[in-house]
Amino acid sequence: MRDSYLVFGSPRLEEDDIKAVEETLKSGWIGTGPRVNEFEKAFAEYVGVKYAVAVSSCTAGLHLCVLAMGLEPGDEVIVPTMTFAATANAVIHAGAKPVFVDVDPYTMLIDPSDIKRKITPKTKAIIPVHFAGRPCNIDEINKIAAEHNLVIIHDNAHAIESEYHGAKLGNLKDISAYSFYVTKNLTTAEGGMVTTNDEEIAAKIKIYALHGLTKDAWKRFSDDGYKHYQIVYPGFKYNMTDIQASLGLSQFRKLEKFYERRSQLWNYYHNELKGLPLILPVEPEKNTRHGFHLFILMLDLNKTPLTRDQVINKLHSMKIGTGVHYIALHLHPYYQEALGYRNGDFPNAEYISERTFSIPFSAKLTDEDAKDVVSALKSIFE
Ligand SMILES: *Cc1c(COP(=O)(O)O)cnc(C)c1O
Repeated sequence: MRDSYLVFGSPRLEEDDIKAVEETLKSGWIGTGPRVNEFEKAFAEYVGVKYAVAVSSCTAGLHLCVLAMGLEPGDEVIVPTMTFAATANAVIHAGAKPVFVDVDPYTMLIDPSDIKRKITPKTKAIIPVHFAGRPCNIDEINKIAAEHNLVIIHDNAHAIESEYHGAKLGNLKDISAYSFYVTKNLTTAEGGMVTTNDEEIAAKIKIYALHGLTKDAWKRFSDDGYKHYQIVYPGFKYNMTDIQASLGLSQFRKLEKFYERRSQLWNYYHNELKGLPLILPVEPEKNTRHGFHLFILMLDLNKTPLTRDQVINKLHSMKIGTGVHYIALHLHPYYQEALGYRNGDFPNAEYISERTFSIPFSAKLTDEDAKDVVSALKSIFE
């Protein structure tokens, strides 16, 4: 039995991260400023996109994407039911209506044939979620979007390092939102990024994120002297601070090293967990790069009398933290009451909801930690 609790999704923070934040704290400029600018530039370059705008979270970013892409009350937006609540909530905050779609039971990705079934004359956009870091079938989604004149907003919360046919997901049409929440592959504690190749949309996102002030308003307190600002939109307070950006920049330098570590863990778990009553994640699709954000297992209910909740409680008692990604949105009371969904509406997502649990997969994990996870699982099914 372990001495300490293995917290699910605990970030890997090191001396250089602490130093970077300390330097910003000592610099006298802790709000939105030069570090945010630098972080945006570095991120845009990594993704291979023209514009990146830092925001306070992915949820905020998705909300601004929906607004900046011109969606309006009454418009319908296709969202997979197997996702985190923020994907659908961003649509609701903008006054539009999320329309849920089922996913593949094993890749957990939005099902293009179900997208087609759910399109109505009111459908204006699709939000594909690149689940666990696995890229969706983008060719197929682009085709559907082109046929029906739909905007595509990518939820890249899991997918910083992911690639589809050789390119990072953040330069796909039309716009993407990333998360730097604590558990994500790169963390700023809270934070996010919106990427797009459209200059006008990028400028809108920037303005909407900071009160609706004219561009570069953050410079108004700089040593260039005071500058007046103008309000051009009733904006939000969705900006990132330099404290967050300095942590982001420092984490960013280690992104590929951390990715390497998670890809080792991926192989280790795959080798060690074979033969248990578990459905392992399917291998990455050809000509894609999986972001390796989550290692999601499904309990094989045909091969064990245990339930998923029993398994995660047993792991907890052995000091191993887990996550559940996710209970499908249409099974939650709010979406049932507000949108009329019922249990039984999306069989594949329900199959996942009943069986899914994620084991610790952070780059922070030591070989010992990973071994503890494996032996705990083995002892549960002995
Ligand atoms: C984490 C997450 C979000 C929200 O990210 P925040 O930065 O916490 O707002 C959105 N979508 C998915 C799929 C997520 O996992």
